[in-house]
Amino acid sequence: FNVPTPENEPILGYAPGSKERELLKAALAEARSKKGDISMHIGGKLVHTDKKGTVTPPHDHQHVLAQFSIGDKTHVQQAIDAALAAKPQWENLPWEQRAAIFLKIAELISGPYRYKLNAATMLGQSKNAYQAEIDSACELIDFLRFNVSYMADIYKQQPPVSPKGVWNRVEQRPLEGFVFALTPFNFTAIAANLPTSAALMGNVVVWKPAETQIYAANLLMEIFKEAGLPDGVINLVYVGGPEAGEVIFNSPDFAGIHFTGSTGVFQSIWKTIGTNIHKYKTYPRIVGETGGKDFILIHGSADAEVSSTAILRGAFEYQGQKCSAASRTYIAKSLWPKIKELMLRDLATFKMGGTEDFGNFINAVIDDRSFTKLAKYIDQAKADKGVEIIAGGNYDKSKGYFIEPTVLVVDDPKYTTMCEELFGPVLSVYVYDDADFDQVLEIIDTTSPYALTGAVIAQDRYAIDKASYALRNAAGNFYINDKCTGAVVGQQPFGGARGSGTNDKAGSMINLLRWVSPRTIKETF
Ligand code: NAP
Repeated sequence: FNVPTPENEPILGYAPGSKERELLKAALAEARSKKGDISMHIGGKLVHTDKKGTVTPPHDHQHVLAQFSIGDKTHVQQAIDAALAAKPQWENLPWEQRAAIFLKIAELISGPYRYKLNAATMLGQSKNAYQAEIDSACELIDFLRFNVSYMADIYKQQPPVSPKGVWNRVEQRPLEGFVFALTPFNFTAIAANLPTSAALMGNVVVWKPAETQIYAANLLMEIFKEAGLPDGVINLVYVGGPEAGEVIFNSPDFAGIHFTGSTGVFQSIWKTIGTNIHKYKTYPRIVGETGGKDFILIHGSADAEVSSTAILRGAFEYQGQKCSAASRTYIAKSLWPKIKELMLRDLATFKMGGTEDFGNFINAVIDDRSFTKLAKYIDQAKADKGVEIIAGGNYDKSKGYFIEPTVLVVDDPKYTTMCEELFGPVLSVYVYDDADFDQVLEIIDTTSPYALTGAVIAQDRYAIDKASYALRNAAGNFYINDKCTGAVVGQQPFGGARGSGTNDKAGSMINLLRWVSPRTIKETF
């Protein structure tokens, strides 16, 4: 069989007066007006508990959108049991049949569910319409369609050589056991991709989303069911991460984790898996995309307008809550006055507020924990000598968790905000002497433990070449003359190395191959 050749889903613009804007507004109004009751999804059944949590928009934290049932360890065990019960039939379903289910999920999101899912992302994660469209519509659809085509390529790979009288072949088996998908708050597309990519390859999954991602996750489960995903293939539980981990990582059937989230959590999980390694039937696959301290380097030959736009979009879109967001930038002194002027000019036009007002560029950060952490960094910067705040610096959580887009100019490239992941709309700038370009390359490479994304902006080809080579291990996704964000599925496979992850490139054949265990068969005639 051939599967359809995937193409990137076109991005809708939501222009004033457009049909899509009206449909999205209606979906937002509907989501706001009725209070949802979200249950866990285990073995195809909706499971309620008496212990409830609430979902509130980060930009309007007193408005309850839904309440959800909080489970405990018994629910995690039930999810494992349901997954294992579904496994024999699911893994024996021909891959073309699995492909059809995931292509249908893509169709449903591209069509009838687009606005509902975008509204859930806008309200649950405080994204504006354009950002939600890129996340929960385009990127998610792209993951599904491109992964189906990569899966087909895997199953149709050239067989090994077979000498006369022998037939050699390689069978791609799903993993023996279940896969645990542990997903972050910041992207609906990532939350959907982690369980679906493992399930696509014939695995059964227990999925635990971040608490602040539950709203969209619940809707995704409804879509999966409508598309015909059999009961038990993906099971969704809402249980605190460490509590869920106690059951998952002690199960002999634990066969792999597909994780996206912070570096600290991933490292602690890896240690637990190491401690329990003797308990498992197989060595579990450990796949994780984690934190970042992503950079933009401006060489003295760069175009100032291109540089300013790249820095502002890279740093402040999605409130800087993108793992790829630019949070440290190194700018040649000769260009700094012009770039600063352009940055301040454009920053003055940024509107901040709730997501339902389509004109707001900056929305709220995800929750109180994130707000408090960012406010602390800003207060520290205000107190520290050697740091100048040239934009922003204010924050307010009376209605929503709002942090003004903030630019710190630091005189020490090893200052904390140049090295640690902040995950919010706070950008640090270090201005270097043009003659010190080589030293700056060394500084970028060595002052943070991460290696997710980075960019160099320059017109001088020798500078580009030098930076590309010197920074070859400092970023899994490297950009030349562009911002360091915005990887597109099918175009720039995404993932980082060092403290940023196992670099198993989301939305690629590399990633899908982690969810199969090949068996080589030799048959002699
Ligand atoms: P997080 O705090 O690490 O949480 C990720 C998931 O792990 C959540 O489901 C969380 O559940 C769970 N968890 C937390 N502590 C746990 C523990 N001790 N044991 C088991 N599970 C645990 O990350 P986040 O704040 O949601 O997301 C932001 C982070 O993700 C940033 O560091 C960002 O750079 C990274 N990220 C990376 C990429 C990439 O591609 N490299 C993409 C997106 C995000 P609870 O919500 O219930 O705590």
